[in-house]
Amino acid sequence: MYFRNISGQESIKKRLIQSIDTGRISHSQLFHGPQGSSKLALALAYSRYILCTNRGVDDACGKCSSCIKIDKYVHPDLHFVYPSALSEDKPAKDNYIGEWRSAISENPYLSEYNWYEKIGIEKKQGMIKKNVSDEILRIMALKAFEADNKILIMWMAERMNATASNKLLKIIEEPPPGTVFLLISENPDGLLTTILSRTQIIRIPKFKDNEVHDMLNRDYEYSEGQINNAIKMANGNYHLALSSLKEESQSKENFENFIDLMRSCFSKDIIKIMSLIDMFSATSREWQKNFLLYSMRMLRENYMVNKDKKQITYMADYEDDFSEKFSKFVNDKNILSLYSEFNKAHSDISSNGYGRIIFLDLSLKVLKLLQL
Ligand SMILES: [Zn+2]
Repeated sequence: MYFRNISGQESIKKRLIQSIDTGRISHSQLFHGPQGSSKLALALAYSRYILCTNRGVDDACGKCSSCIKIDKYVHPDLHFVYPSALSEDKPAKDNYIGEWRSAISENPYLSEYNWYEKIGIEKKQGMIKKNVSDEILRIMALKAFEADNKILIMWMAERMNATASNKLLKIIEEPPPGTVFLLISENPDGLLTTILSRTQIIRIPKFKDNEVHDMLNRDYEYSEGQINNAIKMANGNYHLALSSLKEESQSKENFENFIDLMRSCFSKDIIKIMSLIDMFSATSREWQKNFLLYSMRMLRENYMVNKDKKQITYMADYEDDFSEKFSKFVNDKNILSLYSEFNKAHSDISSNGYGRIIFLDLSLKVLKLLQL
């Protein structure tokens, strides 16, 4: 992430850059902004700029060894803290760090819920607990490895519990020389006032529509119409705009895969089934869960059509067309079993089961049930 990747926010960028140029980096800063604003992206770009060994006037160089390490978020002087469901008695070292690096590389505007989905705890509330604050104290006591500064980005700082917050008070108030704390928060009221009073607060506004447009247009290949629709409902929340675009394209993709799976199961085409399973098992757990939920919805809607209750279904035109023929195969004899097989696959995937076996088992059951 570079400053140039973030549209708008010019005065904040300028202020951050000046703080480095004048050698007056504030050692505890709080980037406060709503969901889908640039708070984490700015903290990442700022960290890159601080650590870059060949800074340009308004952005990092992108070529020095520090920038190259930051490309993968493996710079030894850039540390991250984020909420998770790690239990308090476990050491916090390498707590979901691989997942975190991939999540912020893919989308630094991600929502808290997005993150919990990635680490499979979407039904829980993530926290930052004492074991994490112990780890922070340990890291911060070490000297910077390569750079003059050591940076710690704490995302969703309001998720610190009271013990963790109290442990960190002193170090946030008087960080060791060369240490920079960047706290990121959507709801600073959730932070201890004693922590708030020790940080410099930078308010980050939501994006303007034209900024969201520029970024989507530059970084993705959606049509102008799709982008404009997404912007209308996102109200400056970049995360929301992007996720609605992704949802729309995944929904089409799910539809194609659902048809392929149903057709190949119905015609007992084992070769085609195996190639679908290969493809499904190579995708992420989130993708798999999303596909299974989609399939459950399609089964329910098709059963409704079968029962002459089309008026209470909610399908896109292309789904409607498909269900004209398919609905007669989803009937009283198999609907409950079909639904429960998909539901079981979903819960097995959620509890980290092996995708290939789960999809194989599911396909063979569907093959049988569709003959009923
Ligand atoms: Zn550089």
